[in-house]
Amino acid sequence: MIVQPARYRGRFAPSPTGPLHLGSLLAALVSYLEARRHGGEWWVRIEDLDPPRTQPGASDAILRSLEAHALLWDSTVMYQSQRSDAYQQAIERLSDRGQLFWCRCSRKQLAGHRVYPGTCRACRQPRSDAAIRFQAPEVDDAFTDLFQGAQHTKLASDYGDVVVRRRDGLFAYQLAVVVDDCDQGMTDIVRGIDLLSSTFWQRALYRALGQPCPNYAHFPVLVHAGQKLSKQNFAPALDDHQAINNLMQLWPWLGLAIERDTPERMLVEASKQWSPACLKARQELPL
Ligand code: GLU
Repeated sequence: MIVQPARYRGRFAPSPTGPLHLGSLLAALVSYLEARRHGGEWWVRIEDLDPPRTQPGASDAILRSLEAHALLWDSTVMYQSQRSDAYQQAIERLSDRGQLFWCRCSRKQLAGHRVYPGTCRACRQPRSDAAIRFQAPEVDDAFTDLFQGAQHTKLASDYGDVVVRRRDGLFAYQLAVVVDDCDQGMTDIVRGIDLLSSTFWQRALYRALGQPCPNYAHFPVLVHAGQKLSKQNFAPALDDHQAINNLMQLWPWLGLAIERDTPERMLVEASKQWSPACLKARQELPL
């Protein structure tokens, strides 16, 4: 049984598909400042779950970049690539509870469906040539997001059944992130609004695994020409030698007036000034 820590614990969980860019530095910074505001801990987890998408050297580059920006984590870094046993155990637990089924639907078969149509729900026998899906419970779910306010959904009809292990055997993000956040005792999840839609599935998985859900805060992401700043959109890698300038660029988006100084001292000052109020109810931060 996992005991929730009494103290706030948050994390930054980058996927090492490339080096940090301004958008991911913002994610690191908001989660860090929230942890500091609560006098809590801030951990880093490398989400190298998907080997083909992992760029060699990116994990180390991300950690060096965080250090260059004085974003120092409070515990050993966890790597998802070393967590297969934990994910497999979670699959077995969900399977024992009758919440999984084996799905052989092709992409083509599912094209045109907004949510998974439930085709393979009756297939309850494990098979190696199939993806594993978690059957979305027929319940309403609601929570309050720190930045985005009241959220509500009917999981089964709005989102449908989610893949927890892919047909190629790789564990899916939705499962891994919940298992890790539980095992690491995360109390608060602070991340970009692009992940808000994943949250309902993740909350359902917490409940299915018998764990309490954490608090959520989905902040507006940086957009450029209408698109989220991301590695897929070729956001330029951060130059760690420009750490001061990089941070200076982000302070105004966070509603902070910080004087130019060393990264360490700027972060101390930012931690004093930071309040989530300035980001509330905004969905995007145009570059
Ligand atoms: N690894 C995810 C990403 O880089 C973030 C996952 C999360 O914060 O829940 O987009």
